Amino acid sequence: MKKYDAVVIGAGNGGLVAAIRLLQGGAKTLLVEKHNLPGGFATSFRRGRFEFEASLHELNDYGPDNNKGDVHVLFEELGVADKIDWIQIPDAYRVICQNEKLDARMPFGVDAFIDQMEKYVPGSRTSMRKFFDLAEEVRLAQAYTSSVNGNADSKIMVRDYGNFVRAGSYSVNEVFKALKMPLKARRILSAYWCYLGASLDDMSFVHYASMVNRYIMRGASTPKMRSHEISLAMVERIRELGGDILLNTEAVKILTSPKDGGVEGVVLDNGEEIATHHIVANCAPHLVYGKLMDHVKEEEIKSTNARKFAGRGFTMFLGLDADPDTLGVEDYNYFLYDTTDSVKQYEMMKTIEGNNAQATVCLNRALPDASPKGTSMMYFTTLYMDDVWGKVSPENYQKVKNYVADKMISRFERDTGAHIREHIEEISIATPMTYARYCLHPEGVIYGYESQYWDGLMPRLQMMNEDYKVRGLRFAGGYSMRLSGYSSAYFSGDISGRQTVGDIKREGK
Ligand SMILES: Cc1cc2nc3c(=O)[nH]c(=O)nc-3n(C[C@H](O)[C@H](O)[C@H](O)COP(=O)(O)OP(=O)(O)OC[C@H]3O[C@@H](n4cnc5c(N)ncnc54)[C@H](O)[C@@H]3O)c2cc1C
Repeated sequence: MKKYDAVVIGAGNGGLVAAIRLLQGGAKTLLVEKHNLPGGFATSFRRGRFEFEASLHELNDYGPDNNKGDVHVLFEELGVADKIDWIQIPDAYRVICQNEKLDARMPFGVDAFIDQMEKYVPGSRTSMRKFFDLAEEVRLAQAYTSSVNGNADSKIMVRDYGNFVRAGSYSVNEVFKALKMPLKARRILSAYWCYLGASLDDMSFVHYASMVNRYIMRGASTPKMRSHEISLAMVERIRELGGDILLNTEAVKILTSPKDGGVEGVVLDNGEEIATHHIVANCAPHLVYGKLMDHVKEEEIKSTNARKFAGRGFTMFLGLDADPDTLGVEDYNYFLYDTTDSVKQYEMMKTIEGNNAQATVCLNRALPDASPKGTSMMYFTTLYMDDVWGKVSPENYQKVKNYVADKMISRFERDTGAHIREHIEEISIATPMTYARYCLHPEGVIYGYESQYWDGLMPRLQMMNEDYKVRGLRFAGGYSMRLSGYSSAYFSGDISGRQTVGDIKREGK
């Protein structure tokens, strides 16, 4: 039987970083990935003359060399920073809500963002400044918590990050109100909510503030050759460090000890058993406890079932036979809503008919030669806040898919005045079924467990130690302590990988 100090299940963002951290910590490591390519969502695919990005609209917190973000620093520590070519996203976003006659373009840079908001909403400056000051404190408090592997000293937290502690258990909307932010400014600042997929009544303030701050403070980036470039850089690094990678290989069982229930090994889909005492699972706890483990404590089942799945994803990818100017597509990043009240919009996203929200990107606005001259690529994403696609019959599936795609195109054309329909050369659609099949995400969720205030960033970071319930089993990726999103998944892989190195040293191999 082959033996490893650690096995990482899943080569998504979290799994790839965890594997590098384990290898850097001296652990003999195996990474298994069920798909034939690494990256999970972080990948690309080709249709005709277009290479589409599968997921990444924009990576926050990377930042240029003279304003490095935490992800940039992490990538340098991992030894992958030099392997990737980055491009900067030009502006933060354009948010359009025709029902509210709102059409706002927001720039990157905290000062520029606040100035622009003041133009749209005179009198908003003070509350916006307070928001960004608080958001920066959130970032620093998180950095401190991660640096001590979740063992934050409460005295230091209260002394150095008092406002963070005070805001920690409140929702975004509660803090916006406390900051006395004018309603229109709140509406514009709320635009990013769909990236985290919980309504701002439910979403933990620290999670939202952390994300917005990371985007606005250092701008956003994307790799030149799509997110697949990052995934390949990490694979190359794992191999340089002597790690083993098995693609096309699914972990089908986690073996546990009859004595203490701790990890003893992994069974692969070819029947091979791998001996290990340490696993980092880059997949859903629902999958691990529901399918991969035979003996699960009731406590685990209850705490996992108490969590709420975040949005189920639907994405339409278009290859267009005209450049963005000809199409009238002016911006890189659009948020189109029926209402900027995230609570109402969230409710509308519980049905296929009622959901008309979209986050849309035109890659050529950041990278003009991303596709052949005279063409463009666009991605349109929405989320479903209930398992509505699970109720679509196989007979109706194609029809419903086309219905949603058609609605997305009409919506975009109506709200922006662009003309894209007659220019479609390639079209590809991913529904929640695609995400469930491709990455094994229950119900096709693309953001892990929803960021509720009781299950948001701060509680998860502070519960890191209590969450280590099965000896040798840790989690990385969108379902774990840093929640979902590219940078969050990378940070969770960093934490779980380093924690597992500590476990190996402490508990012996
Ligand atoms: C359309 C779309 C747009 C997005 N846009 C953005 C964005 O702009 N910015 C941002 O920050 N985030 C974005 N996200 C979210 C981001 O992609 C995810 O949060 C992140 O990639 C999740 O990483 P992960 O580590 O959880 O791994 P995942 O990508 O979930 O990968 C998990 C991997 O584990 C493998 N696996 C699972 N079970 C097993 C098993 N038993 N054996 C072997 N392998 C297994 C899967 O095949 C998969 O490769 C987007 C997501 C989507 C779908």
